[in-house]
Amino acid sequence: MYTDKKITIAIDGYSSCGKSTLAKALAKRLGYIFIDSGAMYRGVALYCMRHQLILDGIPLTDQIETALSKIKLSFIYNASTEKHDLYLNDENVEELIRMPDVASNVSPIATIKCVREKLVAEQQKMGEFGGIVMDGRDIGSVVFPNAELKLFVTASPEIRAERRLKELTQKGIPATFKDVLANLKERDLIDSTRIESPLIQTKDALFIDTSNLTPEGQLKLSLKFVNQVLENCKDKTNC
Ligand code: C5P
Repeated sequence: MYTDKKITIAIDGYSSCGKSTLAKALAKRLGYIFIDSGAMYRGVALYCMRHQLILDGIPLTDQIETALSKIKLSFIYNASTEKHDLYLNDENVEELIRMPDVASNVSPIATIKCVREKLVAEQQKMGEFGGIVMDGRDIGSVVFPNAELKLFVTASPEIRAERRLKELTQKGIPATFKDVLANLKERDLIDSTRIESPLIQTKDALFIDTSNLTPEGQLKLSLKFVNQVLENCKDKTNC
């Protein structure tokens, strides 16, 4: 049974493990805000690509730091897809940020300290009143370390690559299994070994392997966890 209490739900995990799909479904079911934090890093990467702030795959950190004040990111609801689209300086870039070239450039951009500081501050503001489901790589560890529920989601690299390839194919974006798998593995490596806020499973996060779980199965399991948190909250004044 759900109470009026609105908690914060942090979902972290490797690329294309299904965390955004799960986060979106959970938010819809609970009437919470859903934020795909990866879209924000993709938005910054797209800006850097357009302004030649990445040279031979290497981000020009000093120039990017100077440019950050010119990057305005916002999410605006799209009634036809029932999703929030990312806007970069008032341009809808939701489609563009999902392209393979952005996927290839985003992880190096996400290693930059000033980029992370800007986006983390914006994400924390979005979640200051709770009632939010946010997915990413550092949500439970850095953005919302006090989140009442933290989930760490994963699946085998091959299953994740198959899912991502299906998504791209459905959108008519040309890609091969080999390239998608290579990109996922490269991003996983950069994300989990970087100095700034690497992807980790925090001790208090609950682990979900989605390899053999349907989206409905993942939602059901997560709702069970939400209910447990809300039940515990009833007995605590500080929860
Ligand atoms: O979630 P998605 O795959 O769209 O994220 C794109 C990239 O953005 C990730 O590979 C990662 O490098 C970066 N990211 C991050 N921290 C987050 C969300 C995404 O570093 N909270």
